[in-house]
Amino acid sequence: MVLATAALLICPGLFSSEEARAYTVKNDQVTIYEGETFPMDSLVSDADFLNLRLLTSDRSISTPTKDGALLGLSIGSCVVTISDKAGGRDEITVNVVSKEDVHMVALTLDDGPGSHAMELMDYFASRNVKVTFFMIGSDVGNYPKSVQRMVDEGHEIGNHTMNHKQLTAVKKDRALKEIEEGARAIEDVAGVPPTVWRPPYGDSTQEQRIAAGMPTVLWNIDTLDWKYKDADRVANEILNGASNGNIILVHEIYKTTLEGIKKAVDKLVAKGVRFVTSTTLLTRDGSTVEDLIGLRCFSSKQKRQ
Ligand SMILES: [Zn+2]
Repeated sequence: MVLATAALLICPGLFSSEEARAYTVKNDQVTIYEGETFPMDSLVSDADFLNLRLLTSDRSISTPTKDGALLGLSIGSCVVTISDKAGGRDEITVNVVSKEDVHMVALTLDDGPGSHAMELMDYFASRNVKVTFFMIGSDVGNYPKSVQRMVDEGHEIGNHTMNHKQLTAVKKDRALKEIEEGARAIEDVAGVPPTVWRPPYGDSTQEQRIAAGMPTVLWNIDTLDWKYKDADRVANEILNGASNGNIILVHEIYKTTLEGIKKAVDKLVAKGVRFVTSTTLLTRDGSTVEDLIGLRCFSSKQKRQ
């Protein structure tokens, strides 16, 4: 019987393969964003899926669409009974949530690119984790393949300025050049411009933030990985800091950070945490990128001038 196994086909911790597909599946629970759909063919094979009948316990919360997907209509939970012509039957619980309720975290990796970027990306690809790399313009030319792969695999590339100078401590014109030159150097190698920036040490003026022309992404969780260079401690800082909406700062260039990331991210992904790019996190409340320009973005909830 096909459907007796349907729930078993739902892998714990399986996530949508593209961020644009807004649903998560865990055990026999499906979570859909309000207004988005969940394609049933991601649960069962195409052939089986064509014969399915979906019955929902509350059509105001979730209703089947013509092409066999489930639409999240309003916030709440309902039970969807799936049956097929052969008499197979299974149930899943569908939770429709607002985007702000989905547990999302942005992991941000500074000061690269460096020699660990490729291994990090192998790992991120295996866990469907997307991150933001804040790179130093003068270093991108040393790792062009890493930088291109970041773009190809859906990570966000950020400008961490040309030479990592403290922008509030250099002359006004020099500071603006640092931002511009960094963005250009990254674009030259990546083939696309960076979409966010982060001032070194988190220090910038509002004039610089506006001139950068893209969101200024800071952080609200500092792992201090550079100071301790201890994988277990890095892992603990990430685990303790991974509350919904947080932006976590690590540095790409330490082996201990790479190891700490693997330990922590494995556990968090298993718990259902989604690692998304900075822009995905910061715009999930409906803010546009333009709305964010000039603001200092510390987390999805904390954005200020
Ligand atoms: Zn830095």
